[in-house]
Amino acid sequence: MAETIICVDCGGPCQRMPFEPPELGWQPGDVVVYRCRDCADVWYVEVDDDDLDDDTRPASERPPGGYRDDY
Ligand SMILES: [Zn+2]
Repeated sequence: MAETIICVDCGGPCQRMPFEPPELGWQPGDVVVYRCRDCADVWYVEVDDDDLDDDTRPASERPPGGYRDDY
């Protein structure tokens, strides 16, 4: 999951809460909370399979079957 998202309301940065990922990594169906720094709105984002692939590495550098930061 991204550490920040863009606020739908004001376009400001929304910080993930908690900042640290879960011990076992994000799982599809987890709900991640983001709070907007500018307007303090809170956004709830459900993790899906696509979110688990949202790092910046090229696909060719990932091991088959996906990649987890904490492995
Ligand atoms: Zn906002």
